[in-house]
Formats: sequence, structure tokens, C-alpha cells
Amino acid sequence: MNASLDSTPKTNLLGLTRAELDAFVVGMGEKPFRARQLLKWLYKRCVADFDQMTDLAKTFREHLKEVAVVSTPEITTVQVSADGTRKWLLAMDGTQGIETVFIPEPGRGTLCISSQVGCAMDCTFCSTAQQGFNRNLTVAEIVGQVWLANRELGFEPGGDRVVTNVVFMGMGEPLANYRNVVPAAEIMMDDLGFDISRRRVTVSTSGLVPQMVRLAEETNCALAVSLHAPNDALRDQLVPINRKHPIAELLDACWLYVNKQNARSITFEYVMLDGINDQPEHARELVQLLKGRPAKVNLIPFNPFPGTRYVRSSAAAIERFREILNNNGVIATTRRTRGDDIDAACGQLVGRVNDRTTVRLGSKLISVAVQP
Ligand code: SAH
Repeated sequence: MNASLDSTPKTNLLGLTRAELDAFVVGMGEKPFRARQLLKWLYKRCVADFDQMTDLAKTFREHLKEVAVVSTPEITTVQVSADGTRKWLLAMDGTQGIETVFIPEPGRGTLCISSQVGCAMDCTFCSTAQQGFNRNLTVAEIVGQVWLANRELGFEPGGDRVVTNVVFMGMGEPLANYRNVVPAAEIMMDDLGFDISRRRVTVSTSGLVPQMVRLAEETNCALAVSLHAPNDALRDQLVPINRKHPIAELLDACWLYVNKQNARSITFEYVMLDGINDQPEHARELVQLLKGRPAKVNLIPFNPFPGTRYVRSSAAAIERFREILNNNGVIATTRRTRGDDIDAACGQLVGRVNDRTTVRLGSKLISVAVQP
């Protein structure tokens, strides 16, 4: 459903946390328990049409129609991979688009969501970076991705939701959109919201240290960190934010996060780039950084995209790298590449970023031609 063009903008209920929805309902002159009823329709039953919310008083429904709307991003295209991975291109502001990917695995289903239209972090091996940055997604646009996937995928025969995990590993740097990502994650973890356990909602960051410290105080989701290199010289090249927040500072924030959150560990993502960061000495350096720490390493075989100068490491190199970590007390796994036949794999999400302003870190602002 879409908000109709009206003189007074209606509130999109998908953008409200439980506390905000309570206040909204009370502001309408209704009893607070109405908010709970609404939450059930919105998140347990994925109903967007107020007329279908049959246990709400008719007068309340009419009133809701005047002031509120349940509006989700519109699906432009759906692609389904041979391995069952599903990618939606969702329309934003008419010409823009973001991508959301669902990855089915035995016993769980992971939804990879976007937090921005494009990205400004400029990691050299990521195709989203080539798109530049347009804007942050709103809370409703972030929550809307989970809502849509739940509506499309529904429930397992046993009654569990098909979507069991959410990872902020689609387009964008979630901690650069802190203001909207945190309430969105809260709605996902709320037992009256999507009711996903806190270990199953993961924010992945390229390393915005001040926001990581804030996150440790203010939420309780899982954290993944895109490390990709075991020393600053190399990480400066691959993940430019490292020039501002180098590895030592980044790791301090990680251990603080584990302490504050009473979390089990941090997941460190490490993209495997042939001849760049995949040598045995890199693995040994990584061991020095992570040994004895609450850390898990997730090795990601590089997913190529047109125009990239990088090549994926050989399976043998990845295996050797993983063994060095494992043999030296650092838990490491290799992420299976999923959905690459539909360009849905890590770092292949490009969406449609028109009208962008490309902010290059560490250098000047470059604006890119506006496309019609
Ligand atoms: N901005 C966030 C989340 C988005 S990317 C972050 O940096 O963590 C999710 C993961 O995919 C990150 O670890 C990212 O570095 C990785 N990635 C990006 N491009 C990739 C590529 N081409 N191949 C494999 N992994 C990639």
C-alpha cells in the first residue's frame, strides 16, 4: 500500500517503535492497549490494510485511515537464484532502488537488508561503493524490507517464520545511518514486533568506531566487523575509513562491545582477494590480533563485478588461510557464495543509485552527473 498524496502527511506505522506507537495511539485519544492490537496485525500477521484488522473498533479503524498508513517499499523486480537465494529490487523515490536478499539455509533463513541508497565508505573491493551515496533509508524503509520479505515468504509448515535472521549486510554502512538503524533493529527484536532474538539481528560495520561505542550502550544486537586486512597499511587501502579509525582503535571498540553486551563474540568479515590479503603471513598477522579474543573470522571469497581489479583467491589459498587461523586458536569459517548467478552475493548489490553525491573519504567531494 502507498500513502496517498494528502495535504497532511500520514504517519507510516512501520517507522514507529513500540513506545512511539503507544504514544501515537494515545495521541489519537485511544486506549493504550489498542497499540498492542495494532502491533499484532502489523508484525505477527503482516496485515497492512486497516479494514482487515477485524478486532479493532470500526471508529478506530476509520480514524487510523485518516492519520496513518502502512507503507512498504514497492517491489520492482524479484530474482530467484538456482540455489534458492532471492533478490528483490525495491523502488525508492521513483528512480532510486535498493536491494534486499533472502538466503535460505538448512534450519534458518537469513535476510540481508540495506540501510542506505548507495554507500559513502568507498571500500575498493565493493560494487556498492562504485554507486556512490544518495541518502539514508528511513526507519520505515528499513523495517519495510523485513515486513515485505515476511509477507512474501510467510511461515514454514511447522509454523515458524521463514525469515529467522536479519543481517545489515546489504547496501550501505548501517552505522553511518545510526539514527534510523537503531530503532529499526529495536522493532525487529521487540517481542511484539518481529520478535527475532538479539543474536539473530546483526549489524555489520566497516569500522565507525564512535558509533560502535554508542551501539554498545544503546542496543543489544550482534555485531560483525569488516576487517579484511591484518595491518593498517593494507587496511588503509581496502577500507579507507581505517585512515581515520585504525585497527587498534577498532579492536578496542570491539572488545568493549563484547563486555558491555555480554555478547559471545564479534564476527570479523575478511574478503579473500587473490595475492592481496590472502597470504600465509597475513593469516599469521591476523592470529596475533585475534588470538585469545572473543572473535570469529568469516572468510568471504571475493565476488567479482564489472570493472574490478581484484580476483577471488583460489579455493586452496582460502583453505590454507583458514587452517592457519584454526590451527592457532582462532575460529574461522568460509562463507559459501550464494546467489551469485543473480548478482546477489556480498558486495554485488548495486540497486539503482541515481542523483547521487559521491563522498570520497580522505579526499574531496565529487558529485556525479544526475541521471534522469
Ligand atoms: N557496510 C557494511 C555492510 C555491507 S557489506 C560493512 O562494511 O560491513 C557486507 C559484507 O560484504 C562486508 O564485510 C563487505 O566488506 C563485504 N563485501 C563487500 N564487497 C564484497 C565483494 N565484492 N565480495 C565479497 N564480499 C564483499
